[in-house]
Amino acid sequence: MRIGVLSVQGAVSEHLDHLRRCDTEAVAIKNVKSLDEVSGLILPGGESTTIGKLIEAFGLADSIRRRTRDKSLALFGTCAGMVLLAGEITDGIINQPKLGLMDIVVKRNAFGRQRESFETALDFKTFNEPLTAVFIRAPVILKMSHEVTALAQLPEGVVAARQGNLLATSFHPELTSDLRIHQYFIEMCREIS
Ligand code: GLN
Repeated sequence: MRIGVLSVQGAVSEHLDHLRRCDTEAVAIKNVKSLDEVSGLILPGGESTTIGKLIEAFGLADSIRRRTRDKSLALFGTCAGMVLLAGEITDGIINQPKLGLMDIVVKRNAFGRQRESFETALDFKTFNEPLTAVFIRAPVILKMSHEVTALAQLPEGVVAARQGNLLATSFHPELTSDLRIHQYFIEMCREIS
């Protein structure tokens, strides 16, 4: 099984390292052809407006949408990646590009100036021990449909959620040595491949 990390902008190499440390074949995805060869794709943190424009320009957005809808691809969005997955974005720019695949309403930069970047211990639904979660100008989920399961929550909103073959976290699991979130996503990819 091969998993890709979208590689147009943002924190790519840390995700590739984590996947490889989980003994999974990991490749950087820059074009539609390489996307065809993976069963999962990580949308990394970065700047959601930039990543969104580039994936439309490179023709990747439509392929990602199609393969996600026909359930041949699992998707994991971290931070800016969560914003891209959202069906609705509050506080975005006008005509903010998005994939719009997940039934969630996301608020960008939701933690305000005081808490722009921070780390905290977080309970994650299926894990026995809390994880250390790193937040960098992070979004939160304000609303979600009944098809979405909240996996972790802070007072500001839901910070991790799953909807079928879609996973989103506000935080950056690639920035700590904990591999559990990547292992969770690899399991999701196994389920569909
Ligand atoms: N605030 C950024 C955005 O909305 C996300 C920041 C990040 O990915 N660390 O695109």
